[in-house]
Amino acid sequence: MTVVSLQFSPPHTPDSAEPFAALLEGLLEAALLVDGRSRCILAVNTVATQLLGMSADQLLGQSVESLASTPEDAMFWMEAAGNPAATLNSDTLMRHANGQMLWVTRRISAVKPAGSNQTYWLVAIRDLSRQRQSEEEREALVAELQATLESTADGILVTDLAGRMRSFNRRFASLWGIPSDLMLERNDDAVQTWMRRSVIDGAAYAQRLAAIEEAPLLQSSDVIKLSDGRVLERVSLPQFSRGRPIGRVYSFRDLSEKMAANQRIDELAHSDMLTGLPNRRALAERVDYAQAMARRESAPFALLNVDLDRFKQINDTLGHSYGDRVLKEVAERLKACLREVDTVARLGGDEFALLIHQADARGAENAARRVQEAMSRPFNFDTLSFTVTCSTGIALFPGDGANAEELMASAERAMHWVKESGRSTFHFHQPRKDVDLLSRMRLDHAMRQALQEGQFRLHYQPQIDLRNGQVIGAEALIRWRDPLRGEISPGEFIPVAEESGFIVAIGEWVLRQAVEQAASWLRQGWRMPVAVNVSALQFQQSQFADTVAQVLRQSGLPPGLLELELTESILLRDAEEALHRLQALAALGVCMSIDDFGTGYSSLGYLKRFPIQRLKIDRSFVKGLPGDFSDAGIVNAIIQMGQALRLHVIAEGVETEAQKDFLARAGCDEFQGFLYAPALAPHAFEERVWRRPLPPPSPPGRVGMKLMGGLLV
Ligand code: C2E
Ligand code: CA
Ligand code: CA
Repeated sequence: MTVVSLQFSPPHTPDSAEPFAALLEGLLEAALLVDGRSRCILAVNTVATQLLGMSADQLLGQSVESLASTPEDAMFWMEAAGNPAATLNSDTLMRHANGQMLWVTRRISAVKPAGSNQTYWLVAIRDLSRQRQSEEEREALVAELQATLESTADGILVTDLAGRMRSFNRRFASLWGIPSDLMLERNDDAVQTWMRRSVIDGAAYAQRLAAIEEAPLLQSSDVIKLSDGRVLERVSLPQFSRGRPIGRVYSFRDLSEKMAANQRIDELAHSDMLTGLPNRRALAERVDYAQAMARRESAPFALLNVDLDRFKQINDTLGHSYGDRVLKEVAERLKACLREVDTVARLGGDEFALLIHQADARGAENAARRVQEAMSRPFNFDTLSFTVTCSTGIALFPGDGANAEELMASAERAMHWVKESGRSTFHFHQPRKDVDLLSRMRLDHAMRQALQEGQFRLHYQPQIDLRNGQVIGAEALIRWRDPLRGEISPGEFIPVAEESGFIVAIGEWVLRQAVEQAASWLRQGWRMPVAVNVSALQFQQSQFADTVAQVLRQSGLPPGLLELELTESILLRDAEEALHRLQALAALGVCMSIDDFGTGYSSLGYLKRFPIQRLKIDRSFVKGLPGDFSDAGIVNAIIQMGQALRLHVIAEGVETEAQKDFLARAGCDEFQGFLYAPALAPHAFEERVWRRPLPPPSPPGRVGMKLMGGLLV
């Protein structure tokens, strides 16, 4: 601040202050001359009139206190009056005539001319407003810069050429975990030491930093690994002022956060939101990987497609949030079925997939059984308890597909096959099913024509009592000779008919035909029970029991001479509904047996509950008799189970005396197979069997069973 020091010869009276006005006029600052006693303004300069917005006339003669704009300011003048010889400085607000307040700095110097007892005050006033304003602007700018610094996600450090800290943001300190006291003290050495200690290789870090600092124009970017596992990206740029480098700006970015975010995005893209399981896309990648591994190690693996049965009903009746809970629980149960290395994925909706490494058909089957087992436990939510079943399709690598897409499609096809044939079990993908759609459609079309044109026939395979060698019944098996293709095996066309639904029509034809045949034999005086195969889809028809009743009525065949062969899967899917249907059929007096017993999901539970009279041991178990240890064990177990439940047991596919002897010793009741006869045309059947007369009343036939109220003795 410029201090005005004035040398002059003062006038003796205020009136003679006029000459001093010229003197004041020569000053750069606003200046007033005030009478020390009366505190009246004696002279002013133009700068002062401009500063205060008042003319010289307005100001002259006025008391200087009248310029005070605040009580404190008025006090100031009083104080000045009490210390006439002092020099006083103060920063204060003064009011411009237009009302605007001005920041000023003011200095009062007391002047006492020699030889006079008169005291004058020279009041110099400097306008600080502009200075204040630029200070405020600078502060605002700094605050703005700091806010900008703070608002970036990166840590920023600005240093001078010697590497000393000039500014930084909080993110910088937090990224490096530098204690705040070190930052507040701006303790460069301590901060540098801290940073060096936080990295994995302190020496390399220091070397690199020195290289950066030694080259003021260098722009650099590198990666720093911290000992806590995080990775920082460091970018450093020179900072210039008027074209000369004055320091350096470092920015640090936490790459591990970015990497974690990328990983999370990746996870989200690869997982199912509801269950957290890998999704279809992730599964496809894992299957691809499994294939690479499997090829290298020549080890097979399995892909299972698991679809919940009737999940829509749960959703529709209990609501979606309830459905979601079920899906989550299913996900947990599926996970529990597998080893750590295997994968459960959710493909969408109620469809899941299991990837099982190093699994052949047996391994896949075990997994599928574990899944059925896991699902069979009741689901308990709130007060509700219910069961959920699922259909599982199995595809094996390399047999069922060369890539992820093909394998997934194969497993899905096999799953659909399970759905169509009654749900609630598992099935392997069969290449046979891969016969292209066109040829399946052709076959389906040909079947429809065959039915119309009467190309189907029924053959009858005798069933023999193991104790006395008597034929006690016959299984009706369909035969089809296509004029162009020749004989087509039911193993080939029945699955296609099941897939298209045409099996319902074929099944009804078989039922009528077989019942008609048995009725015709009976009319001829020959009582020969017939067994008819029933497909799942056929059994599921709501009018199935009615159809059976009607067919029996029309033919006049006693119901006890008809046996229906059902598969386990029919009974397991929707057990309640199956039970009702079986009860309706049992009420008609029809017999029922379980075909292919042992190949499905055998459960003692349903055997006890359902009105069944007979178990048919599948021919795949008979094949290995008597030598195969495991087949022998299974066959023995089935026979014992049958005995415990008072069910008759029949073995199918018996081709050798040794098989027959084993079965007889094990306590099996009946058998059928090539050993005695294949399925024969009705005429051949009569020829072959009628030669042996039916023994009068003794061995239990199915008429007898009926008399015992549905239980065999
Ligand atoms: P299935 O019900 O297990 O029928 C027994 C199959 O074993 C028959 O094959 C029969 O010819 C065959 N078989 C009988 N004895 C022996 C033997 O000693 N050794 C061997 N290796 N096989 C023997 P088929 O007639 O080819 O029938 C195959 C399957 O087609 C049947 O298996 C059944 O699931 C289905 N099927 C046949 N006819 C009908 C039908 O009218 N309706 C329905 N829904 N399915 C049928
Ligand atoms: Ca059968
Ligand atoms: Ca069978």
